[in-house]
Amino acid sequence: MGKRVVILGGGVIGLFSAYYLAKSGHSVTILDRQNVGKSSTGNAGMIVPSHVIPLAAPGMMAKGIRWMFNNKSPFYVKPRLNGDLFSWGWSFYRAANQTHVDNSTKALRDISLLSKKLYQELSEAANEFEYDEKGLLMLFQSEKIGLEEREVANVASNLGLEVEFLDQTDLKGLDYGVKTNASGAVLYKSDAHLQPNKLMAFLTTEVAKMNVQHIEVSKIQKIETRNNKVVQVVTGEDSYQADEFVVAAGAWSKELAKLAEERIQLLPGKGYSFTLPKMEHAPKIPTILCEGKVAVTAFQDQIRFGGTLEVTHVKDQSIHWNRVRGIVDTINSFYPEMEIKIPKEDEIWVGYRPCSPTGMPYIGRSTKYSNLTYATGHGMMGLSLGPATGFLVNGIISEEPAKLVDAFQL
Ligand SMILES: Cc1cc2nc3c(=O)[nH]c(=O)nc-3n(C[C@H](O)[C@H](O)[C@H](O)COP(=O)(O)OP(=O)(O)OC[C@H]3O[C@@H](n4cnc5c(N)ncnc54)[C@H](O)[C@@H]3O)c2cc1C
Repeated sequence: MGKRVVILGGGVIGLFSAYYLAKSGHSVTILDRQNVGKSSTGNAGMIVPSHVIPLAAPGMMAKGIRWMFNNKSPFYVKPRLNGDLFSWGWSFYRAANQTHVDNSTKALRDISLLSKKLYQELSEAANEFEYDEKGLLMLFQSEKIGLEEREVANVASNLGLEVEFLDQTDLKGLDYGVKTNASGAVLYKSDAHLQPNKLMAFLTTEVAKMNVQHIEVSKIQKIETRNNKVVQVVTGEDSYQADEFVVAAGAWSKELAKLAEERIQLLPGKGYSFTLPKMEHAPKIPTILCEGKVAVTAFQDQIRFGGTLEVTHVKDQSIHWNRVRGIVDTINSFYPEMEIKIPKEDEIWVGYRPCSPTGMPYIGRSTKYSNLTYATGHGMMGLSLGPATGFLVNGIISEEPAKLVDAFQL
């Protein structure tokens, strides 16, 4: 029999959880502080099985410290005297080793491939969100970055992902659509992309058709628990009882966990994107410009650029103009024909990546409450891992472990 499920948060993770839960016959309500489907819209839309190396990896600590002193760098930790930042940083430091990477790569590959399979199924039924499988091009200029990218690509290739190594001549022969100053590239044929605004609109409509309720709340005030169970969520306006509760509030999930007297380590990785009308010379393949870690995705009528990861706190909505300049400089240095200008303030989308210190998402039951599930911490891969996360959340709540095992027989 279907359960009553309340989901806290209606970004891509909350919506995909609602989608698979409602499809299985559960009765779902989403509580969000804003209109459901408004979050997760401005990202680069990349679906990235290629991203098999978690954020916490050898060398990242040193790189992070170096980048902190460069105000145009793609990665930045906002220094603060704050316990949360200290414990996150300490856990990141402890996880940034080869053993953690070796333990994570297969899991990241499998959940990403499951997600891609689910995206394929969804788009076969109704491709209203520009799903396409053009791969992902990692373009680099320097030999040093090229070596790093080839190393990562070898790991992906050993895990069975289809990878090609391109030199300057190969790049010239590629039907790419725009001239580039890169010295080489890695092409991940495994990857795909879509238009995030359209995906979020599609999901919002689909879950509404399945009678998922969206309720806009001013505030989640309390999560009340009894006998190792969550009994109700109290908002500024009302209270909601259910059989099951899911925390899927992105970077804010830590604050909600605190209301249930649980602790999860999570900090927002703030980033920016801006979207322009599609230009004559635009890359036909979604691309990451490796030196500046800038993502470039051409949609049907637009082109989106995104970048920077500033580890900060959820009240920090500010735009760091030097980092925006860093994004623009990177684009212009890779694409001599484009001449991109600094966008205006109202053209910039500011988004938070919910970053766990290990770089691995939290998908699973609470250790304290038998009817509380967490689905958060997807960092830079929330859109990519959305369908698989929703599918897993449904498997957990529907108590169907066999289905979960089958899903990974790809
Ligand atoms: C520049 C940039 C580019 C990116 N590119 C990609 C990409 O190409 N591919 C990819 O996979 N990922 C990408 N990401 C990451 C991706 O956008 C995130 O991982 C994803 O949006 C996280 O989704 P979420 O549902 O967990 O959180 P969110 O989208 O943040 O949604 C959380 C929701 O919870 C709600 N909420 C918060 N607090 C409360 C509360 N107290 N009560 C009720 N509701 C609450 C919020 O209003 C929001 O609607 C990018 C991110 C950035 C910044």
